[in-house]
Amino acid sequence: MKVGMIICERYKGCAGGKCFRSMRNREGAFERYKKDEELITVGYTSCGGCPGGNVEYAPEEMIRNGAEAIHLATGLVVGYPPCPHTSYFKEYIEKKFGVEVVIGTHPIPQKYFIVHDKLGSWDTEEWQRMIRPTLCSEELRKRYD
Ligand code: SF4
Repeated sequence: MKVGMIICERYKGCAGGKCFRSMRNREGAFERYKKDEELITVGYTSCGGCPGGNVEYAPEEMIRNGAEAIHLATGLVVGYPPCPHTSYFKEYIEKKFGVEVVIGTHPIPQKYFIVHDKLGSWDTEEWQRMIRPTLCSEELRKRYD
């Protein structure tokens, strides 16, 4: 299975440690893949900064390199504020490029969970749906703090 990842530009300096760890361990949004299935990253880039200009182009290159799914990194979900374009990006990439988009990569770190819970950031049906793959157990969230 080959995947691409698009991260939020706000975290462009991130070395990707949590995303790649969760990929190796099949945790968070990577839990959907079998442990014995080889998982290869064929592209890793940022959205290009608000409002996400690179989302228009990056998926094409990832698909050319074999991407069968594109993950929108957990940073989009946990940033302050969460990326307001997340659901649009998913719909746009799926409709334009015909590739599945998965929201999230690594489990939501517990420290972000606590603050967003207080803020009510995800108190809509849509956000509840979008955080489902990365919400995980409290124990797992703590391991990604
Ligand atoms: S908030 Fe959204 S559009 Fe803005 S930099 Fe982050 S991912 Fe890109």
